[in-house]
Amino acid sequence: MKEAAHPVGPSVLRGLKGRCPACGRGHLFWKYLKVNGRCESCDQDLARYPADDGPAYVTILLTGHLVIVPLLFFPIMWEANPVYSLPIILGGLSAFTLAVLPRVKGGWIGLMYALGVKDIDARLHTADAAE
Ligand SMILES: [Zn+2]
Repeated sequence: MKEAAHPVGPSVLRGLKGRCPACGRGHLFWKYLKVNGRCESCDQDLARYPADDGPAYVTILLTGHLVIVPLLFFPIMWEANPVYSLPIILGGLSAFTLAVLPRVKGGWIGLMYALGVKDIDARLHTADAAE
């Protein structure tokens, strides 16, 4: 197995906090999910690490397993009038998802940084490159 380019744990943790996975000081995002081109602290090229759909998949997985499945064990979920319960449930799920997504994306970029996966690597594995 290929050795990780950087330590995985600290890189992912820095990303989860929304910080540069290389130094942990610079901000990873300049908007909600918009990744800074370069770290303002260590000048690391942050835009080269691909996130694509990975963070969305992980967020859906977390929301489904950590929120929706446990909710189904409460009888009130089945007995409450949907006119009242659905807006509350969907609002809560939306808030949870929107809060988790940038953290997961940061952790994902931290993982890509630690493993040394760059956007150019993704292009090599597409069907377009096989032509
Ligand atoms: Zn940095």
